[in-house]
Amino acid sequence: MRAEPWLGDPQRTIEVLQKYGFKFQKKFGQNFLIDTHVLEKIVSAAEITEDDFVLEIGPGIGTLTQYLAHAAREVVAVEIDRNLIPILEDTLSEWDNVTVIHEDVLKLDLNALAQERNNGKPIKIVANLPYYITTPIIMGLFEKHVPMESITVMIQKEVALRMEAGPGTKDYGALSLAVQFYSEPYLAANVPPNCFMPRPQVGSAVIRLNCLKEKRVTVQDEGLLFALIRASFNQRRKTLLNGLKNDASLPYEREVLEKAIADCGFSASVRGEALLLEDFAKLSDYLTDLKK
Ligand code: SAM
Repeated sequence: MRAEPWLGDPQRTIEVLQKYGFKFQKKFGQNFLIDTHVLEKIVSAAEITEDDFVLEIGPGIGTLTQYLAHAAREVVAVEIDRNLIPILEDTLSEWDNVTVIHEDVLKLDLNALAQERNNGKPIKIVANLPYYITTPIIMGLFEKHVPMESITVMIQKEVALRMEAGPGTKDYGALSLAVQFYSEPYLAANVPPNCFMPRPQVGSAVIRLNCLKEKRVTVQDEGLLFALIRASFNQRRKTLLNGLKNDASLPYEREVLEKAIADCGFSASVRGEALLLEDFAKLSDYLTDLKK
């Protein structure tokens, strides 16, 4: 029988913080969860079973970690703040299936970790992320092709809305397309600031990204696809043509771009925000052959 999580409420968190004289560090995006319903919701949204290997990014004092260790086969938690390491040793002492690594997650070789700890099989990522590096963490996981089944994370609500947005909406942009290239997003819960200590300035949401086994689109040159997407949204109010023409990283003449847009079946005045991932893929493959 695994020990039950006990660190989920504000009183317990205060006791642990006082015991160790812990000081929150803003630069590490430290907002600890103090709501048992939200903690349970994260674990259920991630559909953790006792067969799962879970990587947690930023365990803090170990609150979510206790819930994960209770539900999963094995948990590895990566924490950057050295002051939290002795606290984690204490709060996680009842679980023998948790390993804490003191490291910056952006510097850790997560492919090697998945290989060593889970025989290279897909892992589940679960976290209440430090908001200042949400995008580098998530895009890093995708771009480095870490074998993953899903990513279930608490992030800033505004960022969650951008990740799951579709064409023609105000939130749709380069982040939506990048995330949806690799995964299927699902917004599992909205979470208000009073569920954290200290309270963040922004609303939060739990989003689950189901990693796609087969990509939605395949292109000859993924670098070009993402360069086109970025250029199209750099100047939101401009037409697709002007966005692409004005981007110094794209080596195409105006005439080439005009013809490409027409030959792909888009109107000359179309804006990037109207295009689907499939549309960008078509344009990317058309332009790949015309690269200097
Ligand atoms: N999981 C805890 C909870 O829910 O109460 C804490 C979440 S808090 C929002 C984010 C955590 O990520 C903090 O513990 C912070 O120190 C840690 N962190 C920040 N940057 C990190 C990085 N680059 N690598 C690993 N951990 C990081």
